[in-house]
Amino acid sequence: MVVAADGIHSAVRRALFPDHPGPVYSGFTTWRLVIPVPGVGFASHETWGRGRIWGTHPLKDGRVYAYAAAVTPAAGHAADERAELLHRYGDWHDPIPAVLAAARPEDVLRHDVHHIAEPLPAYHRGRVALLGDAAHAMPPNLGQGGNQAVEDAVVLAHHNQDLAAYTAARLPRTTAIARQAVKVARLNLMSNRAGIAVRDAAILALSKAGPALFLRGFDGIADWRPPQPPYASRRTQVGERYER
Ligand SMILES: Cc1cc2nc3c(=O)[nH]c(=O)nc-3n(C[C@H](O)[C@H](O)[C@H](O)COP(=O)(O)OP(=O)(O)OC[C@H]3O[C@@H](n4cnc5c(N)ncnc54)[C@H](O)[C@@H]3O)c2cc1C
Repeated sequence: MVVAADGIHSAVRRALFPDHPGPVYSGFTTWRLVIPVPGVGFASHETWGRGRIWGTHPLKDGRVYAYAAAVTPAAGHAADERAELLHRYGDWHDPIPAVLAAARPEDVLRHDVHHIAEPLPAYHRGRVALLGDAAHAMPPNLGQGGNQAVEDAVVLAHHNQDLAAYTAARLPRTTAIARQAVKVARLNLMSNRAGIAVRDAAILALSKAGPALFLRGFDGIADWRPPQPPYASRRTQVGERYER
């Protein structure tokens, strides 16, 4: 058996499903950096603007993880991506200017986002299984691409080479999550002023109603549990205790 986890531009996917159109540009680019930002205290945030977002999160080791996304034509690159970020976000709220002031050009990673818009017919063919972005690359706006790859691996191991069962278990779930990620990306990076006004009013109303309502968007995603082995196979030896 072969497990192909060769990412969004998977050569194995192309070989198994040559008629599949492959990934498409999601319409936006991203920047990421992890740096120390001395003397600046702040709470985690993600701020949505017009066709642009910025998030900043303190890490346990004292550094800061910051990311930004903006609607742009595909394959654009700036000579200095930090200067590009300053141009786009330098007048945004604290702590964004401080993060940019602490960053060096070489700290900034930039990647266009692509996703698989048309689901594959299966995540296996013959004795070859696709896993992770090779099977179901999605926009990062739900933070689920890597998580779903890990779930794939757990479920694949559980089905012990029954690849049809692996496809049956994973294709509907990952397709639904990928579609939801596309919707959230559209909401995050909306450019239309009227749409943004409606979006922001809805978010305000939701936040007043209670933060738990936001988290409901993750129902069915974050509460996933690994499949359990059948009861009979959990017995270690006749007469011994059962594993949990
Ligand atoms: C901006 C951004 C933010 C993200 N944020 C999150 C997040 O917060 N949470 C989350 O869960 N996910 C997130 N993701 C998605 C996550 O990064 C991917 O879903 C995840 O990395 C997919 O893992 P993978 O192993 O399938 O593919 P990859 O991580 O792409 O790994 C594939 C590997 O295969 C190798 N490879 C390819 N071809 C060959 C070959 N022919 N021979 C040998 N090796 C090969 C590649 O070099 C690579 O190492 C984000 C993605 C982006 C772009």
